[in-house]
Amino acid sequence: MATSAAKNSDLMAVLPIRICLECDKLLTEASDAMRRHAGDMTVGMFLIRRGDLTEEARQDFKMRLVASFRDAQSGWDTYRRHLVEHGILPEVS
Ligand SMILES: [Zn+2]
Repeated sequence: MATSAAKNSDLMAVLPIRICLECDKLLTEASDAMRRHAGDMTVGMFLIRRGDLTEEARQDFKMRLVASFRDAQSGWDTYRRHLVEHGILPEVS
């Protein structure tokens, strides 16, 4: 048992997994933003199927969808950049 633990800590020294509290926070923010966008999209599908949206309401809803999509994308990009900084993900060109 002690030998196994020593081997594990040797392995950790060679292959450090560098994650931190910020990783968790950024992933939670990205996930929450994606859930909000998914919720907007679900409502949008419902309204379109119902088929009684005015053009003004359709435009308003489109702006809401675009905004929640951008929030989700921004949250995901921030999380990705953080993982790149850790050296977990390769730099994306
Ligand atoms: Zn981190």
